Amino acid sequence: VDLTKLINERIREVPDYPKPGVIFKDISPLLADHTAFAAVVDAIVAYYGRGTIDKVVGIEARGFILAAPVAYHFGAGFVPVRKKGKLPAATYTESYDLEYGSETIEMHQDALAPGEQVLIVDDVLATGGTAAAATDLVRRSGAEVAGLSVLIELGFLKGRDRLPDLDVHALIQG
Ligand code: 5GP
Repeated sequence: VDLTKLINERIREVPDYPKPGVIFKDISPLLADHTAFAAVVDAIVAYYGRGTIDKVVGIEARGFILAAPVAYHFGAGFVPVRKKGKLPAATYTESYDLEYGSETIEMHQDALAPGEQVLIVDDVLATGGTAAAATDLVRRSGAEVAGLSVLIELGFLKGRDRLPDLDVHALIQG
């Protein structure tokens, strides 16, 4: 089976969402299809290999959906990175600029131990701002970012250039 084709056929492009001029990649059809969803999870796990990752960090909200089954298959723990104000205990906080305004994400201070190997998972890599901030959160814990796995990389936005010291693994280009 051609993984790229399997994924591409199940990504819906929604024009003018969340604002005019943006074509949003909607992964809902892919998640609803067991074969495609399982193939995506298996491909991420296969790239890093079982036993290499201690914790999988998922980025709210669609990152959670992919990161949790990846963590299960690694035999690793799952750690959420959430939008500001959602996590109950003491957090590390990182803010980054969006086209208009800014975004703040947080991770619990006790979620990761120094030296742990961490895989960050999200659905889409766009400008790279979210992934760069998540990387900073992980490193503030003293843990090591083994890599970033995304389902879709929007290469034209050059997000990878903001993550020069990271192993960025994308299943498809969008
Ligand atoms: P970035 O910070 O790289 O510019 O944006 C990445 C974040 O925005 C990811 O958390 C991702 O979920 C979300 N995102 C940006 N564009 C899209 C898109 O077209 N489709 C989906 N599903 N998420 C997107």
